Amino acid sequence: MKTKVVKISADDKAEKYEEAVLYLKTDNVVGIPTETVYGLAGNAFSELAVKRIFEAKGRPQDNPLIVHISEFSEIYDLVSEVPSVAEMLAKEFWPGPLTMILPKSEKIPFCVTAGLDSVAVRCPSHPVARKLIKNCGLPLAAPSANISGKPSPTKAIHVFKDLDGKIPLIIDGGESEEGVESTVISLCTPVPKLLRPGNVTLTELQRVLGNVLVDDAVLNPLKEGEKVSSPGMKYKHYSPDAQVVILKGSYSDFCSYVNERKTENTYAMVFDDEGDGLNVEFFSYGKKNDYRSLSNKLFDILRELDEKGAKQCFVRCPDDNSDDLAVLNRLLRAAAFRVIDLGDGV
Ligand code: AMP
Ligand code: MG
Repeated sequence: MKTKVVKISADDKAEKYEEAVLYLKTDNVVGIPTETVYGLAGNAFSELAVKRIFEAKGRPQDNPLIVHISEFSEIYDLVSEVPSVAEMLAKEFWPGPLTMILPKSEKIPFCVTAGLDSVAVRCPSHPVARKLIKNCGLPLAAPSANISGKPSPTKAIHVFKDLDGKIPLIIDGGESEEGVESTVISLCTPVPKLLRPGNVTLTELQRVLGNVLVDDAVLNPLKEGEKVSSPGMKYKHYSPDAQVVILKGSYSDFCSYVNERKTENTYAMVFDDEGDGLNVEFFSYGKKNDYRSLSNKLFDILRELDEKGAKQCFVRCPDDNSDDLAVLNRLLRAAAFRVIDLGDGV
């Protein structure tokens, strides 16, 4: 199959979307831009389309998909119950990078939810994604458009590199603004539970909901035999081929540690304005303590490490305050939870 890439911008008219709409209406899958990361979209009501999503990504069958809608009113087709907290969250954060888990309706096939009675729903803010959903008149199931296990795609070229020949069409809507996947919150538990941190932060959720639990899997590896609330958390994720190691501690200790272990293929990821004193090639991945800036280039850099043939990469550790949870969560998985504490200091 030949994979075509088409640039579409927010101002483009409906005709520009026709090819993608036709593919989606006929159970085919299309790579689409969203403000979090690129998605691999298919009709959420079609078992065939959903099967094609899983096949193209090589996604494990027990990892459910997020269903995307273009406005709140479309939620009623997907879920059996809309609690008032869902309305409150939507009012505050939709369209945007927040996914809510709610009891599923009968219209949603179990292949979307990996057999669960709940479904994940999100209304993205990317204008091209929303226009596409509107023009199709269908909710779109869309996981990140990468080969399972690889860093999520934040540019159309990332999708092309992973899925060339496996899907008919990719819409290039520019670089994803957020750069990390959506925050996932379950509203099926007595107290709402954060399953995956994203750029709608825990603090923002607490402001609307009051008490919010944080799933253990957010910052900890799963224990043997442990039951997961969010099946996606149990898989190796976001991994470049290089061995990633997170270093906690001061910048000067970071430099000493990395310089001592320098080999030909050693790289570093540091905060903006750092890099002096390092004897290895480095990437600046964003402003220290600014989670939106740190999340923005994260996956792009993880992919670039592979392109450069990196063997190891040492990363400055973001804080574990609630706003930085998304970046830390993704880095911990990219590093397979390899964290070294170099001691006190800033
Ligand atoms: P992705 O779309 O690849 O970013 O992954 C979607 C994430 O949402 C995964 O971590 C899934 O496990 C999670 N998810 C989707 N549906 C559900 C659900 N019904 N219950 C719990 N987690 C879900
Ligand atoms: Mg994913």
